[in-house]
Amino acid sequence: MGFYPAIDHEDRCIQCFSKIQHPQERYCSASCQQKAYRQRKFDELRKRAGIPATKLCRFCGAVFMVTSLKQDACSDVEDEDGETEASYECIEAREAYEDARDDALAAVAKARRNAVCAGPDCDKPAGWSGNGRPRKFCTNRCKTREMRARKAGA
Ligand SMILES: [Zn+2]
Ligand SMILES: [Zn+2]
Ligand SMILES: [Zn+2]
Repeated sequence: MGFYPAIDHEDRCIQCFSKIQHPQERYCSASCQQKAYRQRKFDELRKRAGIPATKLCRFCGAVFMVTSLKQDACSDVEDEDGETEASYECIEAREAYEDARDDALAAVAKARRNAVCAGPDCDKPAGWSGNGRPRKFCTNRCKTREMRARKAGA
């Protein structure tokens, strides 16, 4: 009979797949053991929350492994080295999305800032300060006048 070399897959860390010094261990290091433990805990949490193990990225559409309960993009969560699973396409798609959103927000802010008072025969700026709810009238006086005009018209 020939000689069969020992199958060494059991000598590898089940977390990082690197070689293990002591064959009876399942992990190469305490840090791998901890990592595996944290992953198991997170999986339990995830299942309880009814969140699938993989999702489709909202920016690039790629399938990614969920590593945080709120994650909905592959570029959402960074690992310990500050890296994400995000591809170049995802980062581009995400930037395009964020640019478009910023443009839309800027357009809304501009419209609010340039808004003219809705009071009857008033063309003063409504005077939005840049914060909070948009303003429709320059003063409460104009607001009252507009309400009266509407009542009279109805
Ligand atoms: Zn390991
Ligand atoms: Zn992505
Ligand atoms: Zn006014």
